[in-house]
Amino acid sequence: MKVYFDNAATTPMDLEVVDLMANMMREEYGNPSSIHAPGRLVRTKIEDARKKIAQLLNCAPGEIFFTSGGTEADNMAIRKSVSDLGVKHIISTEIEHHAVSHTIEELVAAGKVESNMVKLHANGQIDMAHLEELLKANPNALVCLMHANNEIGSMIDIDQVAELCKTYHALFQCDTVQTMGHYAFDLSKTRISFLAASAHKFNGPKGVGFIYINHETKISPYLTGGSQERNMRGGTENVYGIVGLAKALEISCTHLEADKARIDALRKYMAEELTKNIPGVQFNGDLHGRSLYTVLNANFPPSPINEMILFKLDIAGIAASGGSACTSGTNIGSHVLNALKVDPNRASVRFSFGRQNTKEEVDYVVGKIKEMFS
Ligand code: PLP
Repeated sequence: MKVYFDNAATTPMDLEVVDLMANMMREEYGNPSSIHAPGRLVRTKIEDARKKIAQLLNCAPGEIFFTSGGTEADNMAIRKSVSDLGVKHIISTEIEHHAVSHTIEELVAAGKVESNMVKLHANGQIDMAHLEELLKANPNALVCLMHANNEIGSMIDIDQVAELCKTYHALFQCDTVQTMGHYAFDLSKTRISFLAASAHKFNGPKGVGFIYINHETKISPYLTGGSQERNMRGGTENVYGIVGLAKALEISCTHLEADKARIDALRKYMAEELTKNIPGVQFNGDLHGRSLYTVLNANFPPSPINEMILFKLDIAGIAASGGSACTSGTNIGSHVLNALKVDPNRASVRFSFGRQNTKEEVDYVVGKIKEMFS
């Protein structure tokens, strides 16, 4: 049996999206900047994709800019806030994705900005009182907090954070790479300055994503060149990717509630089965609290086989991800688990689910893990 439990790393593409993109690749090759008919046809497809996304998120099409993915969107938001919007202070956490944390670190090292990290609870939830203290002490800051953590699944209360940012006149950059297409967004109600998304996390193609930039937030071009993306990002658009992204998001949003209920049940079932079968197993994150329903981060007790779990799973046809707090012989491991002081003698494995996964697959995986530990 082959089991893919690494959907937080990337998801398999929806076949309807594959067909749509392949047909377009065969037939529509115009450059969207050309004014002739083949160019105009492709331009229309890009603008239709933008409108579709805006409709799904309840924002204006002019607030959506296509990028090469989540990393570029995160970089754009943070770098432009500092260079164009006079941000002198960034408030973030130690468990952000490297697209955010390394960008902040670089800007801090260059002396362009200062930063403070919000305190975290052991389950990965942020200390809201500390966030408010930092906001009070640093007016007009940029707050960079991810909607859901990609390793352990802990989530912020996005509306509560947005309200706090509004109260203290802070910009709010939210990395929604793990939640876009998995949760409903209404950007007319949730006040976010920048939001980052990536198609390959919701059954779309790799190498394409978008940034939402609230219309009140005005920045200069990120990539200078042609006038694509309304002058914000020069370069011929990834037209097939953009069309695939919009279709994938539409499909995900259509089935969102049903998929959410089914996948959440699968995740909880796996947690129960592991608890029944593997003595001493624990779970990183906030399993029964505000948590991404696609991620289960299991934490296994110290054992000689710990170093081999992922390898043995791979041999058994199971794709999952590591995330040990400390890997053998070196002191580098997951920055998320390290920040949360997860015991480095225990092994952490992230199982992340998608709409294609089944209960039979969970049974197979738990059976293999049980064999390993017996
Ligand atoms: N942010 C988060 C939370 C992610 O999980 C990822 C991908 O793993 C990224 C950003 C980067 O996205 P992309 O692969 O589209 O650059």
